[in-house]
Amino acid sequence: MARLLVLGGTGEALALAEALVGAGHAVTTSLAGRTAAPKRPAGALRSGGFGGVEGLAEYLTRERIEALLDATHPFAAVMAGNAAAAAARCDLPRLKLLRPPWRAEPEDRWQEVVSVESAAAALPAGCHALVTVGRQELAPFLARTDVALLIRTIEPVEALPGHARLVRARGPFAVADEMALLEAEAIERLVTKNAGGEAAAPKLLAARRLGVPVVMVRRPSPPEGPTVPTVEAALGWLDSVIR
Ligand code: NAP
Repeated sequence: MARLLVLGGTGEALALAEALVGAGHAVTTSLAGRTAAPKRPAGALRSGGFGGVEGLAEYLTRERIEALLDATHPFAAVMAGNAAAAAARCDLPRLKLLRPPWRAEPEDRWQEVVSVESAAAALPAGCHALVTVGRQELAPFLARTDVALLIRTIEPVEALPGHARLVRARGPFAVADEMALLEAEAIERLVTKNAGGEAAAPKLLAARRLGVPVVMVRRPSPPEGPTVPTVEAALGWLDSVIR
């Protein structure tokens, strides 16, 4: 049995915590604390930032953590970098669990961009855009007062300007519903980050079927070091580092 910290906030982190608890480990999952009613992971839960690399390193030492499993979202780049730095400082094994990115099919019409700022800049003036990048990254889109924005988020967004409307929803989504939304709202651009995973993929299939162009924000690179795509592979890694 090992004392493990899972950095969470994803479906993979929930599955990982369940598998690790099932394997007899003492697991704590950490959440940033931004979601009002997060799903409860197996094992223990803590919530809120650690206070940078320093704070995380102190936590790892204080809690006598033996391995750090970073299962944060592919776009949670700050936390991933902090995890790598703190684990190195404490001389602890650390793994990044990273779900595979979505890949364009030949019939897709993707414009890949490197940031949400460039995604907002890529929208043609006067178009109707469905924006699904998360509520933390809306600013560059809200600045596009020449675009009609339909913004989809899980959590509420306060005080949107007149050219933006909010639809709140949490996946998993169905392709038929996604097609109905794109058609009903006469969407001409779908904006998304390349999160990967099953739950949000139907919007891409809907866009493909309807010929709607997609503005796709590329992922940041993960920190150097071991990276696996599945929970099963993460368990294999743990067996190799914990004796
Ligand atoms: P981020 O920009 O990489 O991290 C910003 C700060 O938030 C970190 O420095 C850390 O604060 C705190 N933090 C982030 N994840 C944490 C965790 N699991 N436990 C404790 N503190 C955490 O992170 P983000 O992109 O805002 O994502 C925040 C959370 O939402 C993550 O758990 C992520 O998995 C989840 N999420 C993110 C996205 C996305 O698109 N970015 C989408 C879905 C879910 P301190 O420096 O104080 O430790």
